[in-house]
Amino acid sequence: MNGMINITKPAVFISESEIQTRVQKIATEIKSFYTNFNLENDQSLVVVGVLKGAAIFTSDLIRNINLPIQLEFVRLASYGDGTKSGVLSAPDLSLPNLRNRHILIVEDIVDTGKTAVFLKQYLQDQFEPKTLKLASLLNKPSKRQTEVEPDFVGFEIEDKFVIGYGLDWAEKYRELSYLGIIEEF
Ligand code: 5GP
Repeated sequence: MNGMINITKPAVFISESEIQTRVQKIATEIKSFYTNFNLENDQSLVVVGVLKGAAIFTSDLIRNINLPIQLEFVRLASYGDGTKSGVLSAPDLSLPNLRNRHILIVEDIVDTGKTAVFLKQYLQDQFEPKTLKLASLLNKPSKRQTEVEPDFVGFEIEDKFVIGYGLDWAEKYRELSYLGIIEEF
């Protein structure tokens, strides 16, 4: 080999500029929802991003919301590999005390909805937040096995396996700045 790396990039499903435009729109929706409340100092909005998939969406989103924000991340262990959603294990979410705050969960995708249901219930029980909302970059309503719906959605998509912009396939492709599709799914 001559030292060249052969990189085949997945086909574009949603482009970088479409994502960035949409992120700004959702950020505006989020901001207008929270301007109904008096968010300042210790009452800043708490954004809880779900690792690893929502890391990139969360970081773009918070820079567009234009409100004081406290940024937290949680990692939910799930087992099951590849393209199927796993089952959640009881986590130590290592969050500070967020009692009585306004909390916005940020997910990469709501698929079966199990992650969202679990996290909403956990945060509700643990902290009794003033408000508890859910933003998701992607929503796959056809796969839902729970009653949960995100309050703020980037794109509603069909049952396709999506990668890029934080989402992985076996830990690959998170670094892509666009959303692509894994065809063999
Ligand atoms: P849930 O089924 O609990 O709603 O979603 C669980 C997790 O499954 C998501 O946060 C995401 O990490 C993963 N997931 C679901 N659908 C897809 C997909 O199309 N692509 C990728 N990369 N991950 C997905």
